[in-house]
Amino acid sequence: MSIKTSQNYSPNFSTRRRNPEKIKYIVYHYTGMRSESKAIKRLTDDRAKVSCHYFIKRNGQIILMVPELYEAWHAGKSKWKKDISLNKNSIGVEITNKGHDYGYQSYSKKQILSLVKLTKYLIKKYKIKSSNILGHSDIAFERKKDPGEKFPWKHLAIKNIGIWHKIEKRKLKKIRKLTISDFESNMFIKYLNKIS
Ligand SMILES: [Zn+2]
Repeated sequence: MSIKTSQNYSPNFSTRRRNPEKIKYIVYHYTGMRSESKAIKRLTDDRAKVSCHYFIKRNGQIILMVPELYEAWHAGKSKWKKDISLNKNSIGVEITNKGHDYGYQSYSKKQILSLVKLTKYLIKKYKIKSSNILGHSDIAFERKKDPGEKFPWKHLAIKNIGIWHKIEKRKLKKIRKLTISDFESNMFIKYLNKIS
């Protein structure tokens, strides 16, 4: 199995080849820029010092920017499980989307189709665990919002990619209404009942 890509190489990568066994995460991003062409330009500009392995355009086309066995610079300061700085053991996938600052869009159907294909290919190749398929916001939650709430996690989970919850809708609604203060007041009432 292989994946159809075009090449637009980025000079922003670590030149030492890594052992394929080191690759255990996939990290999704949105580009968060006004235009797709500007995003591509930035990710391939040596002054920007950022890159990704794969770039998924609005029209579904996949661009290879950094070959998988080299470290691309997409994660920044990051943490997951016992790993810090996830660049060294991840594959970074950028998906065109203006993002929260410039008019957050739904991901296009063609992007999602390519995303599923690409991810399945990578999971198989590197035996990546479901719990290691992540969004940038998962590994750098204080700084990052991408790929955001419109990212199709649920759809991916149906295709056996990543993890999604199995809580039924009604119950979820209830849980979402709960706040810490509800919890605290319940505890307080329990406490009052106990001492009275
Ligand atoms: Zn990101």
